Amino acid sequence: MKYSSLNRQSESINFETATIKGQAPDKGLYFPEHIPVLPTTFFNQMESLSDEEIALQVIAPYVEDVIPMAVLKDIVASTVHFPMPLEPVSTGVVALELFHGNTLAFKDIGARFMSRCLGYFVRNNNQKVTVLVATSGDTGGAVADGFYGVDGVEVIILYPSGKVSTVQEQQLTTLGNNIIALEVDGNFDDCQRMVKMAFNDPSVSAQLFLTSANSINVARWLPQQFFYFLAYKQWADKHQPPVISVPSGNFGNICAGLLAHQSGLPVKHFIAACNANDVVPQYMQSQHYAAKQSVATISNAMDVGDPSNFVRILALFQNEYQSLTNIFSSVSITDAETKQAIQEVFTNHQYLMDPHGAVGFVALQKYLQAHPHEKGIFVETAHPVKFFDVVEPIINEKIAIPPAIQSIMHKTKKAIPIGAQYEDLQAFLLSRR
Ligand SMILES: *Cc1c(COP(=O)(O)O)cnc(C)c1O
Repeated sequence: MKYSSLNRQSESINFETATIKGQAPDKGLYFPEHIPVLPTTFFNQMESLSDEEIALQVIAPYVEDVIPMAVLKDIVASTVHFPMPLEPVSTGVVALELFHGNTLAFKDIGARFMSRCLGYFVRNNNQKVTVLVATSGDTGGAVADGFYGVDGVEVIILYPSGKVSTVQEQQLTTLGNNIIALEVDGNFDDCQRMVKMAFNDPSVSAQLFLTSANSINVARWLPQQFFYFLAYKQWADKHQPPVISVPSGNFGNICAGLLAHQSGLPVKHFIAACNANDVVPQYMQSQHYAAKQSVATISNAMDVGDPSNFVRILALFQNEYQSLTNIFSSVSITDAETKQAIQEVFTNHQYLMDPHGAVGFVALQKYLQAHPHEKGIFVETAHPVKFFDVVEPIINEKIAIPPAIQSIMHKTKKAIPIGAQYEDLQAFLLSRR
């Protein structure tokens, strides 16, 4: 498989180079040059295949011989190492729970797959790489956990001091080993700006091989297709494919779902469920894309004003609006609707949603009201305990902390405080070689 830049100014490359580079030199996103179509026998036999077998068949055409099959098999097995069950919630509605991984968010899958691929490339090339990443919360924990103990890879995470939740900070700062946390005396935008400057600084690249682990990397994006295949494996009525509602911020997850659909996966309709950050819902109404400043909501991992993966969605449909609307719609849900849904679903169905999953639930409910014969799945992207400060006051109850979180709450935080100027980061990086 070759990947080309959506800005069309860079040469085509293979999976290895796309993973190591992250973004093309022309600043475009890498995109596969063709979309593999899976045989109908694969879909007919799905229930008899293991999760690993399904994931391997899905990802193999994207990797090809860049990673030997036996190695790829191990990588896939250690990626899909936690359950992703469909849980019934209300009539015609089930939740796809993607929060049973180490950091309790769906980003665990992409981060684990990418870290293991990068680890293989580094070993194979006898290289050392430094992964540099800025986080506003969830990404950092998943990346830290995914790369923990991967030989040849050092991870440096910048996070804004006092602006991530306690659980998130513990996830970033207690691992140690090859994971270094820099606690920046500034906000998320400062962290992101400092990271961007480091990537463009020749004095740093002369000494360190820097790479990013953000969500546009193909090795984080592509394995997210697994969610949709594994959901379909569990979907009872194969004659009536599901409507799938995906809480969306940067649109990487739902874009992976649409890719899976183009490979042959039966899905009736995709809903991109957004919070007040409504750039894509607005686009779907007006066919005019206008990026905005992000606004803060209670589903903060989706507070994105210019979703980077939306260009990939347009590319999947050759920029034809009509074929996109046949399968895809997008809707903006308010915080008030989200809170009300969390409360009602908890009271009426004894199911506790996190604020992101709840946005997906409300969007699905609205769709099913207009299409009463359909049935659907909403994607639960994080465990509610990660957002206990939002959820507990709504349901007026304490949430039990799962063992995975309990064990890190007592660990000692290790973070290096730095200022919010690029020079602070530069000095730190140059001292690392
Ligand atoms: C990152 C994140 C999202 C948004 O996913 P995208 O792929 O960026 O659209 C939704 N929910 C949670 C909990 C997240 O961490």
